[in-house]
Amino acid sequence: MDKILRIENLNTGFIIENNLYFALNNINLDFERGKIHALAGESGCGKSVFINTILKLLPKNARITSGKIYFNELNLLDIKEKDFNKIRGSKISLIPQDPFMSLNPLYKIENQLLEVNSLKNINKKEAKEIIKNSLNEVKIKNIENVLKSYPHELSGGMKQRVIIAMALISNAELILADEPTTALDVSVSNSILNLLLDLKNKGKTIILITHDLSIVYNYCDSATIMYLGDIVEKAPSKELFKNPKHPYTKALLEALPTKKGKKLENIKGQISPITEIIEGCKFHSRCKYVKKICTTKKPSLNNHCAREVACWLYE
Ligand code: SF4
Repeated sequence: MDKILRIENLNTGFIIENNLYFALNNINLDFERGKIHALAGESGCGKSVFINTILKLLPKNARITSGKIYFNELNLLDIKEKDFNKIRGSKISLIPQDPFMSLNPLYKIENQLLEVNSLKNINKKEAKEIIKNSLNEVKIKNIENVLKSYPHELSGGMKQRVIIAMALISNAELILADEPTTALDVSVSNSILNLLLDLKNKGKTIILITHDLSIVYNYCDSATIMYLGDIVEKAPSKELFKNPKHPYTKALLEALPTKKGKKLENIKGQISPITEIIEGCKFHSRCKYVKKICTTKKPSLNNHCAREVACWLYE
């Protein structure tokens, strides 16, 4: 398997009132090149911390206490900040939940696109041609108008297209998409997800963060389910839907709307804050299959039926 990203024993925590609390616990994950990989779970599961750890965009109280992040065999955690700036935004791009965060409200779209690193050493006419081609690829029709606009003059979907065009211009190999459709209407959201499929077909690798398992099923090749900083299940996405194993995955799937109008099951309880220390399996207070060992001993991630799963039901 050609792996673009390999995460080994990654632990990221936050210092809160002088104590270190972990938001990522011993994460080991491989990402195959040219695929869409989903990271799924409720808010607070550690998905965004994972992406921000890769991009080294963590707040000051964050600590990466151990681990390795190999991007094309280069350990990103060994790279100095000034060198990392050449990777962030060029080889690895971020599509954020709120595209407004990635666009400077003071500059017109054209000026912002001309600032993309890969365009800095070519003449303006050539650069503009590349920009127009990229905007065309993300199916923006009124290109000249968009180029002359400030971000606040564009709709959410249009801003998200501009961000994806930026990733195309920079020729990023790896795209981290952090709930890129959450703020959009369903029809716009589908068109953005279809653009991600186009990027995959051009050989890009995408890590897509979502809490919506229907997106995982329809658009992703593999899925990793996270709960409170732990990987609880990892499988090819179709396999995960056909035959979910972890009770948390099952609960997420039961909460999905179905065409048959079946009553949706809510997941009991709420996700705990990272400051709460939980003995045993972190999901045990919400799990309908909980047994005695679950409250005292944490299950490890093991191979089971074409996936990895961390649950005492399969030990
Ligand atoms: Fe439920 Fe126990 Fe499995 Fe945790 S280990 S998901 S509590 S059955």
